[in-house]
Amino acid sequence: MFKRRSLYILLIFSLTFVACEKKDIDDGKDYQSLGTSAHNLLVDTPYSSLTIEIQYMPGYAPDNSSVNALKFFLNQYLNKPNGIRVLEEPIPASGKSTLSLNDIVSIEKKYRTVFTGNNQIGVHILITDGKYDVSDIFANSYWNTSICVFGKTVFDNSGNAGQITRSQLFTVLFEHEFGHLLGLVNQGSPMQTNHQDVANGAHCTNKNCLMYYDIETASAGGSIGNIPSLDSNCITDLKANGAK
Ligand SMILES: [Zn+2]
Ligand SMILES: [Zn+2]
Repeated sequence: MFKRRSLYILLIFSLTFVACEKKDIDDGKDYQSLGTSAHNLLVDTPYSSLTIEIQYMPGYAPDNSSVNALKFFLNQYLNKPNGIRVLEEPIPASGKSTLSLNDIVSIEKKYRTVFTGNNQIGVHILITDGKYDVSDIFANSYWNTSICVFGKTVFDNSGNAGQITRSQLFTVLFEHEFGHLLGLVNQGSPMQTNHQDVANGAHCTNKNCLMYYDIETASAGGSIGNIPSLDSNCITDLKANGAK
């Protein structure tokens, strides 16, 4: 009885602590416009480490190789002497076949636990069990530290005969969307030469660049064999904004 009661009290304390911690850390540095944290992601001050929280719905966990590929990609450009770590956590199903931007925003706000504060910058990646209500969109980045990957769309377009592997498609999407958080193209990391595909927003004019606008659908269609990388214009923009 005593033990149970102690455990119960301990549980209340832990829950209170977690609730406070969550509130304290979310001090308004996240949920800002896309691209506004590009410089802070690239340099080591004030944030010497990056924590990426990947929250996925049942059946849509990313595989290790795509997570490792993302870390490798980021380590090429980000100055984070205290490390880049990735947390992977399951969250409940959405129960919806399509999700709106409002839906994904409210899911993120309900479950996200890693925020920017102290010496750490936090990024949230949500992987949903539904599609986006905007057709042909595989993933999007909508705030300074927020990415959503539409798991159902990824699964429908990868892993079958003639399609890119699931791991490759997750890798392309993670890296392309992170490119947007890093301010590409011309949305947070100012262009050093003109290479913005203005008709398609914050994307690169080079068809072979990771930041080309339809790189994910091109990848899914099997028209490119390898994971695209950033071209020299995009890398120059990142370096001018503090990248390695
Ligand atoms: Zn894009
Ligand atoms: Zn480019």
